[in-house]
Amino acid sequence: MNTQNPNAPAAAVTYLIRNASILGRDTADLLIRGGLITAVGPALDAPEDAKVIDAAGLIALPGMVDLHTHLREPGREDAETVETGTRAAALGGFTAVHAMANSNPVADTAGVVEQVHSLGRRSGWVDVRPVGAVTVGLEGEQLAELGAMADSRARVRVFSDDGKCVSDPVLMRRALEYVKAFDGVIAQHAQEPRLTEGAQMNEGDVSAVLGLAGWPAVAEESIIARDVLLAQHTGSRLHVCHVSTAGSVEIIRWAKERGVRVTAEVTPHHLLLTDELVRSYDPVYKVNPPLRTAADVEALRRGLADGTIDIVGTDHAPHPSEHKECEWAQAAMGMTGLETALSVVQHTMIDTGMMDWEGFARVTSVTPAVIGAVETQGRPLAAGEPANVILVNPSARRTVDPNKMASKGRNSPFAGLELPGLVQATFFAGHPTVLDAALNTPHPVSTEESAWIA
Ligand SMILES: [Zn+2]
Repeated sequence: MNTQNPNAPAAAVTYLIRNASILGRDTADLLIRGGLITAVGPALDAPEDAKVIDAAGLIALPGMVDLHTHLREPGREDAETVETGTRAAALGGFTAVHAMANSNPVADTAGVVEQVHSLGRRSGWVDVRPVGAVTVGLEGEQLAELGAMADSRARVRVFSDDGKCVSDPVLMRRALEYVKAFDGVIAQHAQEPRLTEGAQMNEGDVSAVLGLAGWPAVAEESIIARDVLLAQHTGSRLHVCHVSTAGSVEIIRWAKERGVRVTAEVTPHHLLLTDELVRSYDPVYKVNPPLRTAADVEALRRGLADGTIDIVGTDHAPHPSEHKECEWAQAAMGMTGLETALSVVQHTMIDTGMMDWEGFARVTSVTPAVIGAVETQGRPLAAGEPANVILVNPSARRTVDPNKMASKGRNSPFAGLELPGLVQATFFAGHPTVLDAALNTPHPVSTEESAWIA
């Protein structure tokens, strides 16, 4: 897989994508020029200067938008940088990511969010939208300067203390009220701190057998229940990060039926993996919120399919190897996800018949762009729209190899799994940030040719 310098002057290059299946349905050509999709239709005339891409058998989708990425910069460049994280995002089919605020320093001022915004623009692989912290230093004691971050050049609209829960109900209420003025959203990491002190994994049969301190479902559900009531009371927008239990899905369904302005997210790993994996004591499976039971996985898939859960967010959380390759109790929590998200969602939702590619576009691009107020993303594949487009080969299969990823993190829980789906091209604002060389060959792409090489 080739990645191309996105900062090279793309200028005059015109791309004609031939015979792509638009959202998995009708086949059409797409003409990309000057950062825009300029025409969509059958058998378009090829301009003389156009580079032609044969996309027969490939699906054209809007570039994916992640509402939940940890880019680690500033401060933890040993784990990830904006450059490596956004390159991983492009390879995974993303054209925008929201960078979570738990960097060092914390993104709790206009200065820090502008710094992250500038780093994103400089690397140029995707649109980087900084998330602002809700409280100063993620300490949960004092509101951060939400208004100044909203007014800054970074135009922050999503605020989160992710990694920590805004557990003080008064602060949560004030934050919800504050962001209403500019239609911002509070993205909550729902985890009641007292109920999860010392917790190491999901509380259930497996934790009982292993003797590890459990993390009860009620610790997540009680915060979500409180927060949807606060959102109802304030009339503000609440987003629930990484929903992981069946009970959480039920509470969100209840709230939506009552018109509460709540949206919710599920991670790829919670759609596929269960706490049975913890029996291996391999810290690659240690994550917050923890992997749950098969019944929870089933409820999350149903919730995503029926719209109770609005989007997929990766919670891409790279860690240096020394923080993961150690004893379970000492290991850091988190998993990488940008370069495997499409494959896991195809495997769990599309190949199971629970969702089609149009639904995939809705939960990975259209709705996250709306929640995060990224106006140029998640748009229809139509003439006049910004050219944020990916080409996906749904028939390709690959074995996940973290050593071949662009992310600095090697902590993929999917390592060694054979998964479907391959991103063969990513166009960000008309620039091909990823373009598989095999696309220009006249024969079908084999798995070898399209190896997942960063
Ligand atoms: Zn979180």
